[in-house]
Amino acid sequence: MPFFRVNCPHCQRPTLLGANGQCLNVLNDGTTCSYALPIQYGHGNAKYRCKYEKHTTPPKFGAMTSGIHSWTFASGDYSQFQEFVMESGSVHLDPANNYLFLWTTPRGADPVASVFYASSGSVVSATGVLMPLNSKPQNYHHFYSNYEAHFQHVADGPGLIIEAPTAAHPDFQLYRDERKPENLLFTYDPIAQSGQRIVPLASGIRGI
Ligand SMILES: [Zn+2]
Repeated sequence: MPFFRVNCPHCQRPTLLGANGQCLNVLNDGTTCSYALPIQYGHGNAKYRCKYEKHTTPPKFGAMTSGIHSWTFASGDYSQFQEFVMESGSVHLDPANNYLFLWTTPRGADPVASVFYASSGSVVSATGVLMPLNSKPQNYHHFYSNYEAHFQHVADGPGLIIEAPTAAHPDFQLYRDERKPENLLFTYDPIAQSGQRIVPLASGIRGI
């Protein structure tokens, strides 16, 4: 399960959050912060609820002239898929949209949602759940897609720690098991739009 190292939206201090985990920072009054990333509709802020509704409602086909709209059929699926991608997603890069994202296919080759492409007027099935990591953690939400040819696999497996850019560094940093320099796997700078693998792969260090 990937963990997100972020500034806690509640106590404003660095914390490590995963699906269904809570911020363990102790507040000045001695209580535990306990902030958790939203999964259920009612736990989300207005932005999360808006995205939740958008991606569980078919588009107004005639009214959309551009863009892409993806949606899943039953509203309960959305929270299940949100939890699933946060628990078991692998990390990928979308260079076209300039962000890292978590990716998972909860039902394997079977579709989980539909995607409408307004420019062509076509609707296709999608097997994947895609959660961009470029928003504030309280706004993390997913949409649906098929795996695009330009997506690039970055890392998967246990113990991933994803640190969003902070005032101290402009890049995303991806660690394995523990956040220390020797465990740094990958960095991605969304301003420079460049990524770098830190740990040598079998064929040696390579950038992407
Ligand atoms: Zn907190």
